[in-house]
Amino acid sequence: MDLGIRGRKAIVCAASKGLGKGCAVALAEAGVALTLCARGRDALEATAAEIRAATGVPVTAVPCDVTTEEGRRALLAACPEPDILVNNAGGPPPGDFKDFELDDWRRAVEANMLTPIALVRATVYGMMDRGFGRIVNITSASVKAPIPNLELSNGARAGLTGAMATIARKAVRRNVTINAILPGPFETDRLRSTLAVAAAREGRSLEEVAAERAAANPAGRFGTPAEFGALCAFLCSVHAGYITGQNLLIDGGAYPGTL
Ligand code: NAP
Repeated sequence: MDLGIRGRKAIVCAASKGLGKGCAVALAEAGVALTLCARGRDALEATAAEIRAATGVPVTAVPCDVTTEEGRRALLAACPEPDILVNNAGGPPPGDFKDFELDDWRRAVEANMLTPIALVRATVYGMMDRGFGRIVNITSASVKAPIPNLELSNGARAGLTGAMATIARKAVRRNVTINAILPGPFETDRLRSTLAVAAAREGRSLEEVAAERAAANPAGRFGTPAEFGALCAFLCSVHAGYITGQNLLIDGGAYPGTL
């Protein structure tokens, strides 16, 4: 399927690895010029070079912390009029409710709620003026059903989800959509680090815990960043202009509800 977005410009946040990289690769395969960020310069530049070589699209790497104002300024300076914005950042640390001080909550809200809100606010009105825009927020399956021991993620991402619900329905009139993708377990460094915490807590090996969790998923495995990226690219396509304000779960069927 031709996604109809060849020549468009996208900002993909937190994209040197994992799900952000999966989105960047899929958009590049659809012919979209990319501006990518991550904090670590070497991994980011390696990813940018890999995508350029594989697809031939222009890729600008902006090493920065997207959760800071300075980082967001640098990103927007590199791509002032994006047609597509994929919001993403590292997830908050796991832990129990009693372990978290207010400053832990402030950091989680800053990274996983206020940062995407700031980038949406900075880009959505330009997209509306130009008559095309696609915004995808990478959140978590925790928005649909809270994940034990990921209290900070459960809270901050639910806040973002509520904050997007009205603007998504205003922007669509100008062909700008805002949706979220809610990942279940995907094969990334983030998953490996959360599984390592669980393994340590249970006194078991990471391999054992990972194999057990993968087998417990209805699909019998974890998802891949390429599968995640393909959904993101479709939501950014010309074909998805009637999908907005949605929170799309991609979890191999792990969520047990009928709806
Ligand atoms: P990952 O494999 O650890 O990759 C994270 C990427 O984000 C890296 O490129 C990292 O590069 C970049 N990054 C992290 N913090 C950043 C910051 N402050 N500014 C700029 N870039 C930053 O993680 P992932 O699995 O793709 O997860 C992406 C998001 O989805 C996270 O919020 C995670 O909590 C959420 N999620 C993941 C899963 C899963 O199973 N994988 C499930 C549910 C939710 P640098 O470290 O160099 O900055």
